[in-house]
Amino acid sequence: MTRTTPARPWEVAAVVPQLATTARTVTRLHPRTGSPTVQDSSVGGPLLWPRDEPWPTCTGSHEVSSVWELEAVRAAHHVTVARWSRPEDEAHTPEEETIFDRNEEKEIDSPYTDPVPLLPVAQLYARDVPALPWPDGADLLQILWCPFMDHDDDIPAVHLRRRRADQVTAVLSRPPEPSVIELEAYWPAPCVLHPEQVIEYPALNQLPAAVGARVRAWQEDTGHHYNAFASAPGWKAGGWGAAAWHEEEPADPPHCGCGAVAQPLFTIGLAEWNGHDEGGWRPVEDADAEDRRCYPPVGDPTGVDLGDEKLQIYHCPASHEHPPVIARVY
Ligand SMILES: [Zn+2]
Ligand SMILES: [Zn+2]
Repeated sequence: MTRTTPARPWEVAAVVPQLATTARTVTRLHPRTGSPTVQDSSVGGPLLWPRDEPWPTCTGSHEVSSVWELEAVRAAHHVTVARWSRPEDEAHTPEEETIFDRNEEKEIDSPYTDPVPLLPVAQLYARDVPALPWPDGADLLQILWCPFMDHDDDIPAVHLRRRRADQVTAVLSRPPEPSVIELEAYWPAPCVLHPEQVIEYPALNQLPAAVGARVRAWQEDTGHHYNAFASAPGWKAGGWGAAAWHEEEPADPPHCGCGAVAQPLFTIGLAEWNGHDEGGWRPVEDADAEDRRCYPPVGDPTGVDLGDEKLQIYHCPASHEHPPVIARVY
């Protein structure tokens, strides 16, 4: 099933004409629980990875005192998914209770020092996100992260790999996995994607001062929050990236180490809609979806929960060889 953003409640560029030239295409990914294969774009799905290519690991220090066992996290997720198809008041079976009980935070005696195989976060085929940059004939972007966020520099360890899918002849069928992760919510649950291209605009704090002043005046007049309409919520690729909640502070665009202004590549967002959905982003096909599922959060079945923050991956337009810039957006 496709996912379709409703007609916009009002046209941003009609309110402030100077915004027309800032319109950018963003691909909303609309992850939904499923069983993607290596041939699919996915969140939390298997990667098309060459058998003879080393799997990336994180060797940073992970000063944590408790962990979750990945197998237990995965098993509990399967039970949760199975439960979604049953009546709300139906009790868990004893077997399900056992699986849930096993999935808990475990104290550890000493800091976790083993090298950590990274977890697949997403893979995107160019056919699904044509608006992204695809250098050197690459048609597949793979994103992995360390399932421990607690690094010395406080920056999540994110790894990008671009490749040509037709050059992967023998696929790694059982990639290494960490046995434990820092938090249950750092394991992206398998989701198929329903890519949809829409238009978005810069967040308020990314606008030139004069344009921002006009938008603020419009907010005063109407009582609307511009950011709610300008920027698509949820997981997405390209566009203007995630909008900050704190809209008053001017946002200095992140720079690559080479000095170039980095561009939004991938956003690990929050839910695609919440109770009131002011910006009108809830897909038409999900209009009747029940909101009773409080875990994972409504409109986001990936299970990834970074608190109130969104994670923004930027890339350097000067060279795809330059490492990504990672920003946390509140
Ligand atoms: Zn790490
Ligand atoms: Zn650069």
